Amino acid sequence: MIIKKKSNSFKLMGLERLLQRLPNHHSRYSSIENAIRATRAGENGERILADVFQKYEFPFKHFIFHDLNLRSTGQFQIDTLFLCKQGLIIFEMKNIAGRISFPTDQNQIVRTLDNGQIDSFECPSIQLSRNQILLEDWLHARSMSISIYTAVVFPRPQQRIENNRTNLTILFPLEIPVFLRNIVEQPPTLDDHQLRNIATTLMESHRDYNPFPLSSNYNISPSEIKKGVRCVRCGQFGMQSIHKGWGCNRCGHTDSHGHLQGMLDYIILVNNQVTNKECRNFLQLESHQKANRILKQLEIPSQGEKKGRVYVASLKDIELLSKRATEHERKVLNW
Ligand SMILES: [Zn+2]
Repeated sequence: MIIKKKSNSFKLMGLERLLQRLPNHHSRYSSIENAIRATRAGENGERILADVFQKYEFPFKHFIFHDLNLRSTGQFQIDTLFLCKQGLIIFEMKNIAGRISFPTDQNQIVRTLDNGQIDSFECPSIQLSRNQILLEDWLHARSMSISIYTAVVFPRPQQRIENNRTNLTILFPLEIPVFLRNIVEQPPTLDDHQLRNIATTLMESHRDYNPFPLSSNYNISPSEIKKGVRCVRCGQFGMQSIHKGWGCNRCGHTDSHGHLQGMLDYIILVNNQVTNKECRNFLQLESHQKANRILKQLEIPSQGEKKGRVYVASLKDIELLSKRATEHERKVLNW
């Protein structure tokens, strides 16, 4: 039974918005582009992994958790965690194209592309070991003891992988059910009650991962981020405040809700707390009253009164705001 579904990817959405607001000549521009590519590949891989568990019916008691974020002696995130009476199984997805080899003398994997290009990546066994230790600590703190197994999953079955490490299990998605069946053939170490207890405690301990604000996480000063309302029709920044909302000088588009995207960008890139002054400064707006109306429209909670009022967005607020901004953009662009 899937007890925790895959979360929405805030990170990818945030990185794409960060790139939009970063000047092309910025020193971090290409590294953010690379981060977007890697995050997207990771997301696609995790979706393939989640699909395996969605489609396959395991004929024994089990619980599945996708995107689990826990804290013990450190914070850690597990792509997919499988819980059964024989133990916990950590699945880590690696979506890297090309021929992959695992040299035994180094803690890196080497990828060779068809064009001969060779790149090195951190070996997934490092992250797996770290997650295993932190999960053991998490169990230990709750006086629970259970075996932990680990496996790396590569999404493409046609991929060539040379694994010379004896201590690392590498699977393609369709091999997962067989791998799990072999574990389940061993004698159980948990009874029904203990199994359920661990599942509930895992769920209760999960906290959604909050990657915001992205500018500080990527060491980019907020002053380097482009300000103003972006025209969703032509992409130009600096829409003018007009009676009916916002007007674009370049393509003539008028937008009643252009500020939704702008404020979403401020919240996820700069600060999840926003005052009237900060709103005016970021949207390049003079009217105090208009900024007030805009802030109220965001439908996020505020603290304080009058000039000291500050709006504070939680991750849930960001999710809802992002949904509204995307729906509005779709409507404008007639998708
Ligand atoms: Zn425009």
